Amino acid sequence: MNNFGPLEIIEGPNKSKVPFSRSLFINSSKKVLIDTGADPKSLLSIQQRYGIDLVVNTHYHPDHTRHNYLFSNAEKWINPIEYGSSLTVEGIATINGVYQEWGTEGVEKWKQSVPQEWMESLGEISGTYKYEEEYLFGDVKVHFLHTPGHTEGLACPYFPELGVVFVGDYDMSSFGPWYNGTDGDIDAFIESGKRLLNLDVHTYITGHQKGLFSKAEFKQEMEKYLAIIDKRDELIDKYVRQGLNFEELTNLGIFYPKKTLTNTILKTWERSGIRKHLQRLGYTVQNNDIVLLSAVR
Ligand SMILES: [Zn+2]
Repeated sequence: MNNFGPLEIIEGPNKSKVPFSRSLFINSSKKVLIDTGADPKSLLSIQQRYGIDLVVNTHYHPDHTRHNYLFSNAEKWINPIEYGSSLTVEGIATINGVYQEWGTEGVEKWKQSVPQEWMESLGEISGTYKYEEEYLFGDVKVHFLHTPGHTEGLACPYFPELGVVFVGDYDMSSFGPWYNGTDGDIDAFIESGKRLLNLDVHTYITGHQKGLFSKAEFKQEMEKYLAIIDKRDELIDKYVRQGLNFEELTNLGIFYPKKTLTNTILKTWERSGIRKHLQRLGYTVQNNDIVLLSAVR
């Protein structure tokens, strides 16, 4: 994949699909790595050749932070919103939806399934960057744009002098926008997406799948991508009008393929994602029944 001046793109396995992601290496006099979801072999080779001074995480999700632990000598930063909650497994459970959907008991169960190295990677984070300020890494200028929606704290590193932005989970995949954690927000997702379109850049680098988009391509894809939100709205509204209750609605596979919903974490995000659409459509869940918000107020 292309490099952009001092920016080197490091691929993750399987087109950087979840549970991996693309990393970005700033090869300047200061060696900075943005996200650590890429292939560990490639990351280690960069580490051996250059030595990473600083690891920067765009947000807390394990597909972007999973290999932080490989850089034991580097300083590690995350965004200021997620710093507090992302260092412990309990903190993660409150923002990723597990606590909301299953309570304390569910959190205890989920903890057993979390790989040790993921939490180790998050636990090593020792500081934060500031949003919307100019950082100079060697001679490379970067701003960490606050682009909430996917998570509350997601940052998109923007390189004004290179005309490049790293848009992480605005991945333009056919799955569509992901805002399914407790801290995700559909309207914010749309707002941030539109903001990205207005940047003075020629290239968008995504964290997963295709990877590189020209401005025109990204604009075109963003329209299709955000339209998936409306399709989800329509589908959910249709089922609610048919009289389905919350359990029934969350067993259909609106976000994830139905057959994958036996996986607890995917089921968690199916439920929390549907809740967000219900709220957007003016409904609320009361003991498994879906009722119009105006009727309870
Ligand atoms: Zn993510």
